[in-house]
Amino acid sequence: MSDELIEAPEDGQQITLADEETGELNVPENPIIPIIHGDGIGTDVGPAAQTVLNAAAEATGRSIAWMRVYAGSSAREKYDENLPQETVDAIRHYRVAIKGPLTTPVGAGFRSLNVALRKKLDLYANVRPTYHLNGVPSPVKDPSAMDLITFRENTEDVYAGIEWEAGTDEVEQVKAFVEDEMGFDSTIHDGPVGIGVKPITEFGSKRLIREAIDYAIANNRDTVTLVHKGNIMKFTEGAFRDWGYEVAEEEYGENVITEDELWDEYDGEQPDGTVVVNDRIADNMLQQLLTRTGEYSVIATMNLNGDYMSDAAGAQIGGLGIAPGANFGHGRCLAEPVHGSAPKYAGEDKVNPTAMILSGREMLDYLGWHDAANLVRDAVEETISSGKVTYDLHRQIEGGEKLSTSEFAEAVVENIETLAN
Ligand code: NAD
Repeated sequence: MSDELIEAPEDGQQITLADEETGELNVPENPIIPIIHGDGIGTDVGPAAQTVLNAAAEATGRSIAWMRVYAGSSAREKYDENLPQETVDAIRHYRVAIKGPLTTPVGAGFRSLNVALRKKLDLYANVRPTYHLNGVPSPVKDPSAMDLITFRENTEDVYAGIEWEAGTDEVEQVKAFVEDEMGFDSTIHDGPVGIGVKPITEFGSKRLIREAIDYAIANNRDTVTLVHKGNIMKFTEGAFRDWGYEVAEEEYGENVITEDELWDEYDGEQPDGTVVVNDRIADNMLQQLLTRTGEYSVIATMNLNGDYMSDAAGAQIGGLGIAPGANFGHGRCLAEPVHGSAPKYAGEDKVNPTAMILSGREMLDYLGWHDAANLVRDAVEETISSGKVTYDLHRQIEGGEKLSTSEFAEAVVENIETLAN
């Protein structure tokens, strides 16, 4: 790695290692953690999250040695490229990292750096917890019913980037192949066309679904719901569902039962300690999340559905300013908020850093620092429920004190210190 980009660790700072065979982390008390602040509001929420995570680490007798790494506009300015190899290497090497949002141009321009980063590191599971914090305004009657973890497949589906632009030779070749050789004549309208490919593999589906089931078992969750549009896309989304049931039936013994088995063999009475795997069609699921919120606990789904589902669920618990996430694969964790770079608010010290802070909480949990992780959650909740909020929540509540991004982070730090003592 180039010294220019990545500062060498100072004496005493250590690296988080994983056991070669088990993948189990060996976390020092002062790990080096790479951070990408990101584009747009990343420059506001990145430092705010660092302040809070430092306080939580310190309050639990540890420290974090941050390593700034670059992607997006800051990398372009410094190194004339969007995603320097050193940044990817740093996350690979140090195993646990956090990033802010990166801007992706619509239409022309470069492909998503987020997608590129997740693919390069094969971080195949994008995990988005959706839970309600007291005091956060919500458009629904009972936001506390929402306690959902979405496992979104991160490497394939229409996000794989296999697509061709209208007017190119390539798209005409693909069109000719589909029509003439594969027999889909007159299925595609005449005239300019863009074509994309939606790969859904057994390998990609099963490893994601295993992560979701393992999580449900480890965290005493009752159900895992496979969300798909297999009634229409039979051989891609339908196959995802079928492979999900195969994993459930073949790999987990009696710990995991399907919804059919629940009714056929147990009369609908779920045996203690089991996880029920069921499935729902994606459009119906978006309704169910609103109308039968409490019935869903863990979702496993493909890339595009996962993006939609988790944003819709996030709207019920306070929106993009709140919703955290993290990417996992091969014993690595890259935490990141669900929201994007919201360019119009960039650098204004205005937006809500909660989503980035709570993404950091996911990272602390992954490090095994559960006490610090809980402290972060409790301190954020305490801050918001006392009416100290950023503009996005302030306009939705009566009274309250409107804070800037950095003031909000300081208020959370104060609560961490109070709660820890
Ligand atoms: P966005 O999430 O950036 O912003 C949409 C709106 O949500 C904002 O205008 C703002 O009103 C609100 N919002 C978002 N974050 C907030 C916060 N922390 N506090 C308060 N309000 C907040 O979505 P967009 O406008 O669709 O995308 C902007 C750019 O971000 C695009 O280039 C997009 O590709 C990129 N993006 C990146 C990621 C990522 O890095 N993981 C994710 C989504 C979008």
